[in-house]
Amino acid sequence: MYSPETHKLADMDVFDITIIGAGPTGLFGSFYAGLRGIKTKVIDVLGELGGQLTALYPEKYVYDVAGHPKILAKDLAKNLGTQAQLFKQSIVLGEKVTQMVRGEDGVWKIITDKGSEHYTKTVLLALGAGACVPKKLDVEYPAELEGDTIVYAVKSKERFRDKDVLIIGGGDSAVDWANEFSQLASKVTLIHRRDQFRAVQTSVEEMCHNKVDVKTFYELKHILGNGKLEGAVIFDNRTGKEETIKCDAMCINIGFVINLDFLKSWGLQMEGNAIAVNEKMETNLPGVYAAGDICTHPAKLKLIATGASEAATAVNFAVTFVNPTAKAFPGHSSNLNLSI
Ligand SMILES: Cc1cc2nc3c(=O)[nH]c(=O)nc-3n(C[C@H](O)[C@H](O)[C@H](O)COP(=O)(O)OP(=O)(O)OC[C@H]3O[C@@H](n4cnc5c(N)ncnc54)[C@H](O)[C@@H]3O)c2cc1C
Repeated sequence: MYSPETHKLADMDVFDITIIGAGPTGLFGSFYAGLRGIKTKVIDVLGELGGQLTALYPEKYVYDVAGHPKILAKDLAKNLGTQAQLFKQSIVLGEKVTQMVRGEDGVWKIITDKGSEHYTKTVLLALGAGACVPKKLDVEYPAELEGDTIVYAVKSKERFRDKDVLIIGGGDSAVDWANEFSQLASKVTLIHRRDQFRAVQTSVEEMCHNKVDVKTFYELKHILGNGKLEGAVIFDNRTGKEETIKCDAMCINIGFVINLDFLKSWGLQMEGNAIAVNEKMETNLPGVYAAGDICTHPAKLKLIATGASEAATAVNFAVTFVNPTAKAFPGHSSNLNLSI
């Protein structure tokens, strides 16, 4: 707890709401906060807006967002970013929030890994699955190959055109990319350490009909090539038998490191790996709300559409926390005449 001496409201830039996480939930929350006229800041550890949409599947189409029959995830992220900044909110990128403490005056101090401090009356936690850190391969390779030749998230499908691609993993991402690349790559091989896939059955069936060489019970032993990727040695984990395959691009989808233990140290009540919220999206901490993938309640669905609805609820109730005479219901935006 910091002392009131070092925490003089007049000396600080105190925001009404600070949204941690600039994924679809946080971005829509930022828009709503602007619409309600409260002073808003958004903080994200990543260098760009969009959360999972940008970090994990920018080149995939999303079909279940209201008003968009079909939209690329990166385009949805771009639109959300534009909407989020309509009211010139303050956006801080590249800073990971590491601690939150509440002062005696009720103002929260948010501390980041860059050593900066952000002051706010309310907080909206829109952290998704936490900072999206992909699990890394337990195999050595030249660092310069990562991001272009060896990828953990596909930023551009075109990079895989006419390549011999090795995909590692058995979840939705691995199988979906195997299906996508089968349309444009020279050859696609998918290795998976088990014969059961976590991906949806229809995608697995599609993969088996597509031009994908699926090798179950196979794992990566090492990478071949001198400064560039030329191939890989894989092995059958039942027999140890090794095989060399030619590849000049690799896509690794073996999951994410999820560590949300720090949330408990902030004093938040958790249910498993998610923050418990009530119907107003309030957490157990005063003035702290949560929305999107990071929170849970009895009717929880982890979808972009749900996050948007929860963000609207959280922000509108945060408005009543900041100003107890304000109504939670924002009115209809169609009644406004915004010069935007
Ligand atoms: C491959 C794939 C396909 C999907 N397809 C669909 C689909 O078709 N339809 C659908 O509805 N949903 C889909 N989803 C799920 C959807 O992407 C998520 O429900 C959605 O992204 C959740 O949004 P969010 O803003 O709550 O969290 P996220 O998108 O995870 O954003 C959270 C943000 O918080 C940031 N953050 C976390 N911790 C910190 C910290 N300590 N400090 C600062 N910043 C922090 C992260 O960097 C991230 O940017 C898909 C997911 C995946 C992986």
